[in-house]
Amino acid sequence: MSLSRRNFFRNLGVGAIAGAAAPALRAFTLAPALEHALWGNSALAAWPDGVATAAAPVLLYRNENPYGPSEKVVAAMRESAAGGNRYPRTEYDTLVDKLAALHKLKREQIVLGCGSGEILCMAAIAFLKPGKKLVEAAPTFPALGKLAQTAGVEVADVPLNKRFQHDLPVMLSKVESSSSSSNSSGTGLVYIVNPNNPTGTITPRKDIEAFIAKLPGGVPVLIDEAYHHFATPSANYESFLDQPLGDPRVIVARTFSKIYGLAGMRIGYAVANPEIAKRLAAGFPGWSVSVVSARAASAALDDVDYVRLGVKRNTDDRQEFMNQANARMLGCIDSQTNFVMMNPQRPPDEVIAHLKQHNILIGPKYPALDKYIRVSLGKPEEMKIFWQAWDLMPPTGKMAM
Ligand code: PLP
Repeated sequence: MSLSRRNFFRNLGVGAIAGAAAPALRAFTLAPALEHALWGNSALAAWPDGVATAAAPVLLYRNENPYGPSEKVVAAMRESAAGGNRYPRTEYDTLVDKLAALHKLKREQIVLGCGSGEILCMAAIAFLKPGKKLVEAAPTFPALGKLAQTAGVEVADVPLNKRFQHDLPVMLSKVESSSSSSNSSGTGLVYIVNPNNPTGTITPRKDIEAFIAKLPGGVPVLIDEAYHHFATPSANYESFLDQPLGDPRVIVARTFSKIYGLAGMRIGYAVANPEIAKRLAAGFPGWSVSVVSARAASAALDDVDYVRLGVKRNTDDRQEFMNQANARMLGCIDSQTNFVMMNPQRPPDEVIAHLKQHNILIGPKYPALDKYIRVSLGKPEEMKIFWQAWDLMPPTGKMAM
């Protein structure tokens, strides 16, 4: 049975709405589906309460941009809001043209999504089904793996290597060749997140290239570059969008949620060869991005100075975080992103609970790296509150449960 969109969302527990709904409703159902896949029920239940009833919590948990979008982007959103009575018309074309020019691509190679989360859904629906497994790292961004598992798709979770990089030789050993025929079994998709979430680490470009060269034909690779802008360009890190391989199996996902500060606007995109781009978009209505989001994204692409400022601020904030962690003898994984994974030298559950008592939310516990916590970088004043609360923690083993 193929993994149709209808079955997919039914498997996610939103089938009653999504399965029966007209496509126009999908934008409403996708967000809860992703929320569930990303954060699980408990976080979903806790989040709205916490935000609505308490004093504003310090949000260091979802790798958002604490500085928000640029003023130019906010102005574009305000202006476009007045046109909210109309379906998008020229806004998509303008954005796709801008992206095509930026990345030197054909328009047919670009697929817009309601966040890159929707791109992950598209990839799951296009390439995965029972018998066509997903190969990914552990830990990595969990949405795709959770979507696949919920839909009964086998997931090969391959632990990161000792340097917290994707263990590509082991991932390759899990890949089974697969023909594109809908009845054959094998590997449906490989997912590489680079830089990786939650570790913030880079898997070297040459290793990924060697991996792709050995990959059996017909197995697509989704390279998720959500944190691309925060990575320092080097021989180790080069985007597969900026320096394409020319391999038709490579799909790159990008988001406007991170460096551009537009997580709440839900906009991202995929770049692929025209045939794969068509396959990704198949069955999706093509209007899940709002007028305001499309205009915001276009304005964000134009505001290159703000991107530069964001990169600089993030580098400074990350360095300050490392300094504070070092002063407390806390080991951090070297990060190339806007978040840091740190060994708190005490049980992560206790740290998460302590910080929550002080109205500070950090990332969830990651079973595959169960001695670590993930802290998204906030503004300097927020990080000051974080470290003040940190220093109130009782000595190890004496914390209230
Ligand atoms: N990919 C990665 C690696 C992420 O960390 C995230 C969100 O944190 C996403 C994709 C989804 O981002 P969005 O749907 O906001 O574009």
